[in-house]
Amino acid sequence: MISLSEELIKQIEAHGERDYPHECGGILIGHYNAEKGKTVVELMPMENASEESTRHNRVLILPRDVLRAERYAREKKLDVVGYYHSHPDDKAVPSQFDLDHALPVWSYIIVSVLQGKSADVRSWEMENDRSKFNEEEIGLGTRDES
Ligand SMILES: [Zn+2]
Repeated sequence: MISLSEELIKQIEAHGERDYPHECGGILIGHYNAEKGKTVVELMPMENASEESTRHNRVLILPRDVLRAERYAREKKLDVVGYYHSHPDDKAVPSQFDLDHALPVWSYIIVSVLQGKSADVRSWEMENDRSKFNEEEIGLGTRDES
């Protein structure tokens, strides 16, 4: 399970809508908790590093961006807990490309953006043997209105 506030979910949706029809991406910063899983407290939006021609369906995170995020998180006594990205005109389900580039333990939040409007937000964790993603529950933090 991954917890984040509605405000952060809105920020992820807004980033996906802003970069539509391109994919957007960013790093999730927060903490790991033995009982409750992960909590996201902050987003670090990333520049899309892939070539213009493939930008609509490929978001690459550069190792230097991961290092920068880890350094930033450490300074705030936080951790990098995952990555979010958008799927323009596609479902909020990981692609084979996502699986091939996933890291263990991290959460992958995907926002589906249909015709410029965010339609669905789901979160996924990769199986340890890299065979597939498993969906994980998104908790809405303390101000739960669901
Ligand atoms: Zn994807």
